[in-house]
Amino acid sequence: MKDRIHFPIDELSSAREIFWSNDNRVPWAEAEPGLSFHAADIEDAELRLRRFAPLIRRLFPETEESGGIIESELRDIPAAADALGLPSGTRLLIKLDSELPIAGSVKARGGIYEVLKHTEELALESGLLRPDSGPEEYEALADHRDFFGTYSVQVGSTGNLGLSIGIMSAAIGYRAVVHMSADAKQWKKDLLRSKGAEVIEYEGDYASAVAEGRRLSEADPKSYFVDDESSSSLYLGYSVAGGRLADQLEKVGISVDSAHKLAVYIPCGVGGAPGGICFGLKERFGDDVVVCFIEPVQAPCMLLGLASGKMNDICVQDIGLSGKTEADGLAVPRCSGLVSREMSQVLDACCTVRDDRLRGYMRLLRESSGIVIEPSSCAALRPLTMLAGKGSPVSADELRSMTHVIWATGGGLMPPEVVEEYLEKA
Ligand SMILES: *Cc1c(COP(=O)(O)O)cnc(C)c1O
Repeated sequence: MKDRIHFPIDELSSAREIFWSNDNRVPWAEAEPGLSFHAADIEDAELRLRRFAPLIRRLFPETEESGGIIESELRDIPAAADALGLPSGTRLLIKLDSELPIAGSVKARGGIYEVLKHTEELALESGLLRPDSGPEEYEALADHRDFFGTYSVQVGSTGNLGLSIGIMSAAIGYRAVVHMSADAKQWKKDLLRSKGAEVIEYEGDYASAVAEGRRLSEADPKSYFVDDESSSSLYLGYSVAGGRLADQLEKVGISVDSAHKLAVYIPCGVGGAPGGICFGLKERFGDDVVVCFIEPVQAPCMLLGLASGKMNDICVQDIGLSGKTEADGLAVPRCSGLVSREMSQVLDACCTVRDDRLRGYMRLLRESSGIVIEPSSCAALRPLTMLAGKGSPVSADELRSMTHVIWATGGGLMPPEVVEEYLEKA
């Protein structure tokens, strides 16, 4: 197979860092009609999240202030822009999904949304909810733990998706079973168990944990499997972030147009989170937003799928890579088929990052801005160091004309001793 596919596959297989502009991309207006989802699907997800807000508020008092809406801050980080060496006056912000309530990662979007969607379906079938149910009835779902306890929710995860699905499912009363790959960090397993979820550990990688979880779940008619490799619910749950970010930008007076583009940098694992967010942003900003995904040099599954055109019919081991990386949230050997197809004519760029940069980025963010995110999430800084460096493909003036947003995808729940250990070795 190796000799039949060409650039950038040869470079990818050498595990060198590369930047890839998507040559299959077409203007948004041309791509949009051919997509599987549209603005109305995002709206449907947003409305469902609002219906469930009273329940979220009751189950998770930390969401009291936001009325049960799970959202994160968008923060200016000028000192980090300087530390990265960006031309002075370049506006850099960070979207702090690392601080999202409940799960401390971007997975608090898609993961929680999918559990709620499933819950609504079960509640409608059983008569706990009716199509015209109001806020009180949604909130009262918290009183039906016995009913939900007869059902299970299962998921395969490298860590953060498990945290999000496990915590949410256990809070509603489901039996929550999380199948964790070998990459998953111990503290994530411990935390999940403390919240009442069952954690099953596997020797193998993410794809094998998912396969085993799917198999066990399918054998049980009262079990629901959250399928990260092909879930449209996850994708749409994430997509809501596009409109939310647009509103936040507007609030701080940042306008986005063809002369003032928005550039967004999102770490990518299987693709659901960055794909959904990219879709949501494109629906809002069209070609005025430029989205770049970042993957580890040993696990660039989305770049591989898109650049080869093989989507999820190829995995990183097929080109001689290991799939192993310290960036546990991105340790995915094969991309989502659904997301890669949706992104193929839409995504602007992908790039890869070496593991040994991640702790340095972690230190840079903490020292410049007092923000702590996990190593996977730090991958988002890689394109900026490239754009700031010598030989940047983008001129200083052009960099300054844009608004740059780093998507901090996780780390809010990291125990302090884990943070110190990472930084010691930075
Ligand atoms: C899951 C995750 C991602 C990527 O999301 P995918 O849906 O797997 O692409 C990025 N960063 C962190 C910290 C994550 O947990």
